[in-house]
Amino acid sequence: MFKKKTIWLLCMAALCLALYTIVISRIEGRTDVIFGGSDNGFIRSDSATFGDPNEYNTPEPTEDIWPDIDIDLPQYSMVNDQVAHLLTSQFEPDVDYIEGTTQLFSVAAMPYLDAMLQDLRDAGFGIYVAGAYRTYSYQKMLFDGKASQIAMGFDPPVTDYLDPKYQEAVEEAKKITAYPGASEHQLGLAIDLMDKRYYTPYVYENMNQKFYEYLDSICANYGFIKRYPTRKLLLTGWDEPWHYRYVGVEAATFIMEQGICYEEFYAHYNPDFQY
Ligand SMILES: [Zn+2]
Repeated sequence: MFKKKTIWLLCMAALCLALYTIVISRIEGRTDVIFGGSDNGFIRSDSATFGDPNEYNTPEPTEDIWPDIDIDLPQYSMVNDQVAHLLTSQFEPDVDYIEGTTQLFSVAAMPYLDAMLQDLRDAGFGIYVAGAYRTYSYQKMLFDGKASQIAMGFDPPVTDYLDPKYQEAVEEAKKITAYPGASEHQLGLAIDLMDKRYYTPYVYENMNQKFYEYLDSICANYGFIKRYPTRKLLLTGWDEPWHYRYVGVEAATFIMEQGICYEEFYAHYNPDFQY
């Protein structure tokens, strides 16, 4: 009972913070506020510090440099809001608590995550896990909260879900918060990682870039990739330098060495995949 109340209070606090941020950003005329990405806050994007988002460097699909893998294995799942790539509400991976946190992660990939976190600690970083496994229903709550928040911001405010204008808010919300079933956090293989000393407030300029430089240099050793790098925003649709995804050492090493995003990698094995 106590736990339920705590979760409810935390959710309300997160929604209040998001609403507050939207109001502040409107007042200040900001257009670069990004919500979502982590469970309990917002991140203001100042992407310029993270390189050129237009920089494309997909390698030629020459046959002998791409790893020989079975793309249909669960660790390679492509999750997004395309119908073919949505997870159902029944998809529930085997997860367990990440040591020392209240966050859950895939049992199968846990040894790799544990080793990566230990590497970070050994390098002198404090770790804050801002998000990991999310259930379908939790993602739905986040998304519905975002859509209704946007609809309330219309002039006049729209509160009726059946109002055709509400659909506009839904489409707008899709750019900010993953649609239910469209978040790879539901796979249990994604984690939002931040340096403990820099996690608040969530603005890029406050993030410890040394933390991400180091993490980017070692993550593939443990099978993880930087999933939504700023410079690939136009390909992935997301700008989340804190979001890492387990795909296995072989694929991760190739992806990080080539500097490609997962869409580019996945499309090599599934030529029909559009992104
Ligand atoms: Zn994330």
